[in-house]
Amino acid sequence: MTQLTIVNRIREAGVVGAGGAGFPAHVKWKAQVDTVIANGAECEPLLHKDGELMEHFAAPVIEGLEWAARATGATRKCVGIKAKKKEAVAALQRVAPQRGVELNLLGDYYPTGDEFVLVHEVTGRLIPPAGLPLEIGVVVNNVESLYNAARAMDGQPVTRKFLTVAGAVAKPSTFCAPLGMSFRDLIAAAGGATVDRYAIFVGGVMMGRLTRDADEPVTKTTTGFILLPEDHHLVERMSQPTPVMHRIGKSACDQCSYCTEFCPRYLLGYDVQPHKVMRSLGFSMMSSDFWSKWGDLCCGCGLCTLYACPEELYPKEACDAARARMRELGVRWRGTSLEVKPHPMHEARRVPLKKLEEHLDLLRYERPAPFVPRDWSPRQVRLLLKQHAGAPATPLVKKGDRVREGQKIADVPPDQLGVPIHASIRGRVRDVTNTEIILEG
Ligand code: SF4
Ligand code: SF4
Repeated sequence: MTQLTIVNRIREAGVVGAGGAGFPAHVKWKAQVDTVIANGAECEPLLHKDGELMEHFAAPVIEGLEWAARATGATRKCVGIKAKKKEAVAALQRVAPQRGVELNLLGDYYPTGDEFVLVHEVTGRLIPPAGLPLEIGVVVNNVESLYNAARAMDGQPVTRKFLTVAGAVAKPSTFCAPLGMSFRDLIAAAGGATVDRYAIFVGGVMMGRLTRDADEPVTKTTTGFILLPEDHHLVERMSQPTPVMHRIGKSACDQCSYCTEFCPRYLLGYDVQPHKVMRSLGFSMMSSDFWSKWGDLCCGCGLCTLYACPEELYPKEACDAARARMRELGVRWRGTSLEVKPHPMHEARRVPLKKLEEHLDLLRYERPAPFVPRDWSPRQVRLLLKQHAGAPATPLVKKGDRVREGQKIADVPPDQLGVPIHASIRGRVRDVTNTEIILEG
């Protein structure tokens, strides 16, 4: 099968980065590289969907990796997985070696799943500043994207999402749920909330976002969500409005630079220095732009805000704001040197996940979240037209139409970045809006 045929099938099935990024997989697979890596490094506290997926569906993950290698011409196939995920490692070991796939066992620290960190761990190569893995001959896909790719090659589109429901719920679980299902239904499937008032971290506490809307739908990038009581310190901290975060930072930052000293990108040798970005908060727009350039290569891992800063300030949010402002100005990266050299302390300063969870008062919620196979029959699903990087999809159906599961119901013009969206249940189109298609089962 040619690269073009594989790439077209992946696109038509709507395969995107299922680890949270949502970048269309077919675009990556157009490259020619020597190495493909399955990212199973999963490092967000309490989320276990990749581990459960690899444990229960090792064969299709490896099959997807083989398709990635075939499309890109890669000769080296690797899976990056934490050594502590013993059951998943055992399941992969039963299928990987005979297919020429290496398992790269990683330590249990945060953020192992960052593409820059993972590529360095597996290949010893460093992605150029503001660059892509393919510039150094590597393509990285989340393990669920590869599972979806294997199914796509059998003609099955993406209609389900693996995700973990964790935190203050009776039975933390990992599900494979129809896209568009509500968080509320999934909380019920996990035995219900164990507290009356809770907030929800979607995609994890470190890199995710906070919501209080349990009616939000599952999308192709929902890796899971964590319920925490309203009075949990993390909820209180992350509920501050952004201007308040900046105001506190402006008055309280003493420039101790702990945020920089623990930054995984800085330790890997990239010029990210959040303590300098904090200086931008105290200046007018022009001078502020000068300081914000030390946030250009930040990956938003959140370690500086949620672990390193002794004053509990918000350097990650300062970097976010700096990058948003630079995007507005059309500026991408203002560094000059392409040389990247890891800091001599980069291994010694790694933050063990357990220590991070202890610091965040999450250890009491660290329980297994086993995969629970289920037949779902939601009465309604809400399929967002934008659940991938790129342009939103345009609806191909109208109110009242009948659809079958797996039918293409929205698509993106072929000259734009994006993928189609498929019905996740059989039923009738209840409504089509500018942002979503609502189906009734
Ligand atoms: S760790 Fe906190 S106080 Fe220290 S420089 Fe960074 S933001 Fe400022
Ligand atoms: S969020 Fe903070 S620690 Fe993480 S990469 Fe950005 S600056 Fe570094």
